[in-house]
Amino acid sequence: MTAIKNARVVLEYEVIENGVVLIDGDRITAVGAANEVKIPEGASVYDAKGAYVGPGFIDIHVHGGNGHFFYADPLAAAEFFLSHGETTVLPTLYYDLTKAEFLASIERVKAAMGQGMAGNAIGGFYMEGPYMNPKYGAQLENNKWRGEIKAEDYNEVVEAAGKHAKVWAIAPERPGLEPFLTKVKLVNPDAVIAVGHSEATPAQVKALKKYGIGLQTHCMDATGRVTPASAGTRSCGPDEACLMDKDIYCEMICDSQAIHVAPDMQEFIIFVKGIDKVVLISDSYVSDEPTPPEFAHITDLQFDPSGGLCGSKLTLDKACANVMKHIGCSVNDAFLMASRNPARAIGMGNELGSIAVGKRADIVIVDDGFNVENVMLKGEFIK
Ligand SMILES: [Zn+2]
Repeated sequence: MTAIKNARVVLEYEVIENGVVLIDGDRITAVGAANEVKIPEGASVYDAKGAYVGPGFIDIHVHGGNGHFFYADPLAAAEFFLSHGETTVLPTLYYDLTKAEFLASIERVKAAMGQGMAGNAIGGFYMEGPYMNPKYGAQLENNKWRGEIKAEDYNEVVEAAGKHAKVWAIAPERPGLEPFLTKVKLVNPDAVIAVGHSEATPAQVKALKKYGIGLQTHCMDATGRVTPASAGTRSCGPDEACLMDKDIYCEMICDSQAIHVAPDMQEFIIFVKGIDKVVLISDSYVSDEPTPPEFAHITDLQFDPSGGLCGSKLTLDKACANVMKHIGCSVNDAFLMASRNPARAIGMGNELGSIAVGKRADIVIVDDGFNVENVMLKGEFIK
């Protein structure tokens, strides 16, 4: 048994000052104030020295980081993000991979799952595509999935990913999606469908709702709108469609200078969705492309060969610090968006995402600036 003491325990809507968390095996077994929770004799005691003790971060949309793509070296990538408090990651495969590359990547990641602590942090896949609108997003010239949607192209990929594919992102306006979505849901009925890289109308989003649309891929980023009927007015696009659907969680990238989503837009998204439906993602990517001169002072962005934004170099500890700085939200709100909401968005809210009795002991210990001091995964500290 392990006890964490002198903790500022971050619950969903309050912080317990001078709190204690007890862990037995891979489960949280008690949470409360020091004068309420007795530390059992013989427990190994970790002194948090007044740091915040919150639920491990869950990064559902992350391509890689620190020089390692998940698809190429899943354990090295997972280890990096785990050191930043990400106790669950969904390696994200993009439309720049060919079918053969998708298949090889899926096998590599599956083989890494459960291999040591880093492997335990890999929770499945986020499929960013392959069927997005080729007009929107990074690496446009490398989109290998333009043209007709054919079963012979996607069947093996969907089957290989199986139930590990937690999310499939689509552009609802792509013609011929329905047989693909039928296949996806046949293989994994729990798969969440995300809307992204799209200029879909609300009607086009609604038409596919029955397949389980529950997420928007990086809200207010890589989307467009159809031209409105009259100049000077504006139409609703995929962002608005997802913002006004109460079932849909919206992903938000919070880089240090709020380039992906400006601070007022962050506030707007949270105002419309409510704090319970916003999910922080890193969208961290690996790229050697040069930084355009206008962004030379910013160190946490990535660019594609055309100089367009291509994800970030974020980790969710940094994203939490950034969102607090940009909009002045609380520590609780940051943890809701980085841990609990993503757990719920991928259907794992009963198991992960908060410091509560019975949940898996995935814990991050951070200082006031969200600098990670230690991380526990399944009841074991990484250091
Ligand atoms: Zn994207």
